[in-house]
Amino acid sequence: METSPSDRIARSVAQRFAGDRRLLTFDDLLAEFSADPYLLVRNAEQYMRDVIEHGGSYAVPGIGGEVTRWRLFDGAPADGVAALIGQEEAQRDVVETISAAAREGRLDRMIVLHGPNGSGKSSLVELLQWGLELYSHQPDGALYALRWIFPRTAPEGTGLGFGGARAADDEPDSYALLEPEHVAARIVCELRCNPLFVVPDSERPALLESALERRPQRRSESFRHYLDSNLCPRCKQIYEALLSAYHGDWRRVVRHVQVERIFISRRFRSGAVVTQPQGTADAQLRMVSGDGGLAGLPAHLQSLPLFEVVGDLADANRGVLEFSDFLKRNLELSKYLLQTTEKGFVTVGNLLLDLDVVFLATANERHLEAFKQLPEFASFQARMAFVRVPYLRETGKEVAVYRSIAAEMARSRHVGPHIAETCALFAVLTRLHQPQQEHYPPHVHGLVHELTPLEKALLYAEGRVPDRLDGTNARELRSLVPRLRDEYRHTTWYEGRVGASVREMRAALMQAAVRDDAACVSPSALLAELRDMISDPSLYRFLQVEAQGTYHDAAALLRAATHELGVWILADVQQAMALVPEGEYDRRFDTYFQHVVAKIQGSLVRDPNTGRREPADARLLESVERLLPITGDVDTYRSDLVSRIGAHALDHPDEQPIDFRKLFPDLHRAMRRNFFEDRRGLVEKVQRHVLLYGSASFDDLGADDRAVAARTMENLTAETPGYCAHCAKDAVQIALDHLRDEVSEGSSA
Ligand SMILES: [Zn+2]
Ligand SMILES: [Zn+2]
Repeated sequence: METSPSDRIARSVAQRFAGDRRLLTFDDLLAEFSADPYLLVRNAEQYMRDVIEHGGSYAVPGIGGEVTRWRLFDGAPADGVAALIGQEEAQRDVVETISAAAREGRLDRMIVLHGPNGSGKSSLVELLQWGLELYSHQPDGALYALRWIFPRTAPEGTGLGFGGARAADDEPDSYALLEPEHVAARIVCELRCNPLFVVPDSERPALLESALERRPQRRSESFRHYLDSNLCPRCKQIYEALLSAYHGDWRRVVRHVQVERIFISRRFRSGAVVTQPQGTADAQLRMVSGDGGLAGLPAHLQSLPLFEVVGDLADANRGVLEFSDFLKRNLELSKYLLQTTEKGFVTVGNLLLDLDVVFLATANERHLEAFKQLPEFASFQARMAFVRVPYLRETGKEVAVYRSIAAEMARSRHVGPHIAETCALFAVLTRLHQPQQEHYPPHVHGLVHELTPLEKALLYAEGRVPDRLDGTNARELRSLVPRLRDEYRHTTWYEGRVGASVREMRAALMQAAVRDDAACVSPSALLAELRDMISDPSLYRFLQVEAQGTYHDAAALLRAATHELGVWILADVQQAMALVPEGEYDRRFDTYFQHVVAKIQGSLVRDPNTGRREPADARLLESVERLLPITGDVDTYRSDLVSRIGAHALDHPDEQPIDFRKLFPDLHRAMRRNFFEDRRGLVEKVQRHVLLYGSASFDDLGADDRAVAARTMENLTAETPGYCAHCAKDAVQIALDHLRDEVSEGSSA
């Protein structure tokens, strides 16, 4: 059946509205409470823990092993909510702090996210607020707030009706669902009081106990908030007034309670508030002036001095309040806010206001450092839970930022391959510290001392050890990764505290796109831009960090990034020459291991061409081994490989067939490198021909040479690797320079 768009929208809105159950009577709410007491009386910390757990978590690679990532921090990129990139340690610290507070039933500290500028502190908070908002629309995330309803007609003799009208005989059990024309006045609690606080605190333990008997699995939760907290002063005032008007008949008081489902909203500053340093972040009293609603109040209540609480603390109640750049505020205000966090209430006028808020703050590392120098710091410290948010040290994660910028730039001009990767690598290199020998056992002093920034970055990113190391040292270094990762952890000079920020790298990348001398965003345009960037140390803080060896030596780091870029580009160019058919190295590499296993175990290998089972092929073994870095006896080398394969198979029984390229990445690289080393002259010749491509001298080349150069060019400009005619030549020049540098490095070593 055909339905119009407006029909569909109307139906969907109606379904959502019904599903949301926006308005309830107090009895409805009590029934829900009996079914599951926890969901309706959890506090802001418990709610936030549930938000985080609602999205769940999964494992991702980290430095030296897997780490947990919470889905909440992945955002929803399709809806314009960007993910928090990396920062799994900070995620863990925040989640642990909040979970501990949720178990405890109360968080008496402010969570202070600190780190260098632009490290993702605010994104982390934004995602928490976004998650809160999203969850508040879920069935399990329903939050309810209190409103007071006064009908046009009220029971006789109470003075609670408007205009003294008489009550009908069929007085309803609740005014919550009265049609608007029967409502004389409505008071909305701006603090969004939990309607269940209308139950007197003396009655709450028994009510809770009977609900928990039906739902014993909730006994592990803390109900401290429900048992200890109270209605806000104004709701309390109304409650008392009603109770006295009804001569203590509580049943009649709760008729006035309307339960409204509320939603967290950053836009409307409801339960999710960010305050800037210049803001006051406070709560104030304001007399409720006689606007519309109040004039309809029953005479009895009109005589009460009604006031409301306004300000950030009120807006954030039942949610989260972020103090942006917390330590930029004056000291007295910081002190006051920290005390408020600790106590969990504020005094407004002569009234006590219970707060139900998670307090979060962000602070720049330098401000924090200055703050720590204050004599008062010791007394503040206990009121803060510090979470460090450093710059990333993993290129594989850092690259995501630049990939999205590059994708954006690619709409208007060509962006060459490896651009984002080079930015990420350079940025990470500027952030790494040199390992200090004295932090390690003597037998690895040489190993850690010789580790270059590039090697450290690759070790962090993919657990890759330098090819220059032999097996024993490679294993040793791999086992040192957690130590390297944590070496500076407990110092204020932690790794990721200084270095190029994402913001600075982004600016350089944008600048590379508009260089006069570049036809596209080519690798060489980016390198030129980075050279400009580091030429004036006064412009960037990270250029002022004292060098330790080549660590924090920007020129040396840029050379290292250029070197690695050369490796990537050379691999593209070699691949594009198609000297061997696609996939041939990989096939030979895999076949080699099948034959080694057969050789050592004395078994047979199935020949894929004939289907016959044959003994290991000695010629094949030797041809590959020529390309591998074998020192010492070949038989020992082969047995060692076979036992590593055996051990891997035991650890990974489901991996069938074994991925040899993943198991021996260093050998795979070595084989490839040596294969081309053998053909170096040819590779260089083809590269020089490609550079001539399109010029007059290209026509002077022989037909075969022209064909190889043209094929290389064509392959380079295919979708993968994705060069354009301009940056393909650029890349070939970088590859040639790279080969030349390798020769000069080799001869000087
Ligand atoms: Zn209230
Ligand atoms: Zn290009």
